[in-house]
Amino acid sequence: GKRVFSGIQPTGIPHLGNYLGAIQYWVDIQQDNECIYCLVDMHALTVWQEPVSLRKQTLEQTAVLLAAGIDPNKHILFNQSAVSAHARLAWIFNCVARIGWMNRMTQFKDKAGKNREANSVGLYVYPNLMAADILAYKATCVPVGEDQRQHLELTNDIAQKFNHDYKTGFFPVVEGFIPKTSARVMNLRDGSKKMSKSDPSEQGRIELLDEDDVITNKIKRAKSDSEPLPSEQEGLSHRLEALNLVSIYSVLAKQSVEQVLQDFGGKGFSPFKSALSDLLIQKIAPIREETKKMLADKQHLQTILKQGAEKASAIADPIVSEAEYIVGFLK
Ligand code: ATP
Ligand code: MG
Repeated sequence: GKRVFSGIQPTGIPHLGNYLGAIQYWVDIQQDNECIYCLVDMHALTVWQEPVSLRKQTLEQTAVLLAAGIDPNKHILFNQSAVSAHARLAWIFNCVARIGWMNRMTQFKDKAGKNREANSVGLYVYPNLMAADILAYKATCVPVGEDQRQHLELTNDIAQKFNHDYKTGFFPVVEGFIPKTSARVMNLRDGSKKMSKSDPSEQGRIELLDEDDVITNKIKRAKSDSEPLPSEQEGLSHRLEALNLVSIYSVLAKQSVEQVLQDFGGKGFSPFKSALSDLLIQKIAPIREETKKMLADKQHLQTILKQGAEKASAIADPIVSEAEYIVGFLK
């Protein structure tokens, strides 16, 4: 097996995109690998978070991940700020990465908005912290959604420059693991934007804690168009919202897009949307109910995170200490 690392920001309740793009794989690959999963609260801080909400969301996400099937006994689940190795290595990487590299990061451009200079410096150097998250464990397998591809490439650039500058082979090459299907679930109200926790409108996303009627309503009101569904996949190419809904259906039903269109081609959105809501409810309701149960015992959740942080530190501290020695810090 490999050492796997992945993270999710406690910026809100995980949504369908997080589930299909990341969490579902996190659960599956526990079978044959050593997995380290992290609630990345330091990344969350790159945009303003109410302190009370940040703590609350960290526990909620922990509960969702456990409910989805993450096993904290065989694997590691913790919150990032509890393991100082991340911040220590991130500083070194801030000094390895070049300003020009940061300027090419498209997520910064997307998140920063028009007034770029008003953003936190943290948002700008976020990818260096992400590189540190991964390399502090020398993890080689990193399952993430398509939106993180560029950050993974940067992680390898940083590792290579570190190895080159300090004449060492210390950091390994990191392999991205981007699920082919549904690695990018789009916003239900705007098929050109990805579904995001931090989007101000909840109508664009299905959250894993949405009640059944909320799911049905969001899908009913999801943007579509007046044409019936096509019978061939090419017919979806300029219909972003329709393509998104059909893709979600195909992943949940474990059918190809072609198969889905065989059933629904020529029909209007209404029967399709109601079948899609049913599939979503089947998937989400059990996770939601289990999460509610877990949230009844917050002390237990905190204990899980604390034990996770201890196990994570035991791996990361020696690796980061060695990196600190390599760059010349007196030990
Ligand atoms: P935020 O808006 O705060 O950045 P987010 O919705 O982008 O939140 P993250 O916590 O940044 O979620 O990402 C967690 C994981 O979910 C990452 O692996 C990311 O690639 C994946 N992911 C996020 N959004 C989507 C999406 N729309 N489709 C597929 N995967 C996604
Ligand atoms: Mg994100």
